[in-house]
Amino acid sequence: MSIKENLLHIQSQLPSHVTLVAVSKTKPVADLMEAYNAGQRIFGENKIQEMTEKWQQMPKDIEWHMIGHVQSNKVKYMIPYVKLIHGVDSLKLLKEINRLAAKWRKKVDCLLQIHIAEEDTKFGLDEMELEEILNSDELKTFQNIRIVGLMGMATFTDDNEQIKREFLHLKSIFDKNKQLETLNLKLETLSMGMSGDYQLAIECGSTMVRIGSSIFGGR
Ligand SMILES: *Cc1c(COP(=O)(O)O)cnc(C)c1O
Repeated sequence: MSIKENLLHIQSQLPSHVTLVAVSKTKPVADLMEAYNAGQRIFGENKIQEMTEKWQQMPKDIEWHMIGHVQSNKVKYMIPYVKLIHGVDSLKLLKEINRLAAKWRKKVDCLLQIHIAEEDTKFGLDEMELEEILNSDELKTFQNIRIVGLMGMATFTDDNEQIKREFLHLKSIFDKNKQLETLNLKLETLSMGMSGDYQLAIECGSTMVRIGSSIFGGR
């Protein structure tokens, strides 16, 4: 199937409250353009340099999402055009994003990444660390970011029951903190689900899925 067919097939399965991020990491601009021409406007990349190069070459009505782990010293390169940063996992990083966004007179949307998988290898906050950030006084002073939701990745396993438990765990953390609302904090987006598990993620309350290989083919 072509990229366009894959995309339309996935789109047809998504409820209207679920946003599709087309994860285009490692894929050439020609592939992204095929998705763009089929109507896709949100693309996710996990390396800043690759995202920058694609941003330069592609139409400017695209929303670029950084889905990978973000290093503080690289934030400056993406601030000019990034719309949403999915993998924020410290107050220090929020502070740096805020500082650079202020320079550009922008507001940058962020998701806080929560560690839900069993593997140690995946980044993210635990529940206590999340609450510390959400309730910190320093956060309230950050005028150039907005925390708009949470993101998580399930364990890489065939065990659907385990994946479901992990997604429901994230959903419960999301619901627990949903009532918090300040000038730069309101949890509305729950980014969970990839090619292998997005249907399950949607059943568990996802509002944003990040899908790569089911659109563009294997990497
Ligand atoms: C690569 C990646 C995806 C997409 O994975 P697929 O299995 O190809 O759909 C989603 N989220 C993150 C954080 C990724 O790094």
